[in-house]
Amino acid sequence: MPELPEVEIFRQYFTETSLNQSILEVEINHPKVVRGHEEILKKLAGDQFTGAKRWGKTMFIETGHNHILFMHFGMTGNLNYYHSTVESPKYARVIFSFESGFKLAYVSKRMFGRLGVTKSIADYAKEKSLGKDALEITESEFTDALAGKNKNIKAALLDQQVTAGVGNWIADEILYQSGIYPTTRTRDLNRQQLITTYKKMQEVVKSAIAIDAVREELPAHYITRYGRKTSISCPGCSNTIERTEVGGRGTYACGKCQQIY
Ligand SMILES: [Zn+2]
Repeated sequence: MPELPEVEIFRQYFTETSLNQSILEVEINHPKVVRGHEEILKKLAGDQFTGAKRWGKTMFIETGHNHILFMHFGMTGNLNYYHSTVESPKYARVIFSFESGFKLAYVSKRMFGRLGVTKSIADYAKEKSLGKDALEITESEFTDALAGKNKNIKAALLDQQVTAGVGNWIADEILYQSGIYPTTRTRDLNRQQLITTYKKMQEVVKSAIAIDAVREELPAHYITRYGRKTSISCPGCSNTIERTEVGGRGTYACGKCQQIY
């Protein structure tokens, strides 16, 4: 599932390919992925995309008019920019055609992604109760939100109302790097451990963006570099990585390097 780093890479890709070109046509191949405003989407014809921002796992595209296009990529979504002489990608649900002869496809195989129009990024964030982006939240905002809560640390990291952008694999990596077992209750962590978690969150997210979210290129001491499987050895102690379920989510951890507090 595209998490913060993947969506940041989509944002960079979009910025490098699709800005400041006249939009000729918007083709909606599958209305299920479009939220509400189909008419407004069609009105994008003649307009231009002027900028792109990201909040958590959602990308926001500014236009020449007073509306903002949002894109959430669900489980399998991505973007594809290509020339109109090339066949559109499979599962292209919405296609923007530009005057330049190029097209941008919003691709969503399983159709869990959503695309639509909002008045402002703040309106969208309020409607979805999004917490601050994981790269924007301050250390004290993060530790204050988690301190004393009767909730396991993995669920707290995944809670988009606390901080937006962290998904399943990043949460596992943050906790591995922090030496904290995922079922630990946040109330059992002291301030220093919460600060460590915050710092590791920054480090993991930035490392993933730096390598274009290609997990195989993550540092050698990261567990997610080796894939989501139990046959791998812990880079720290060589024990086999365990798979458990925490809050219904498949979770990978080292029972030796990560402590339950
Ligand atoms: Zn280990």
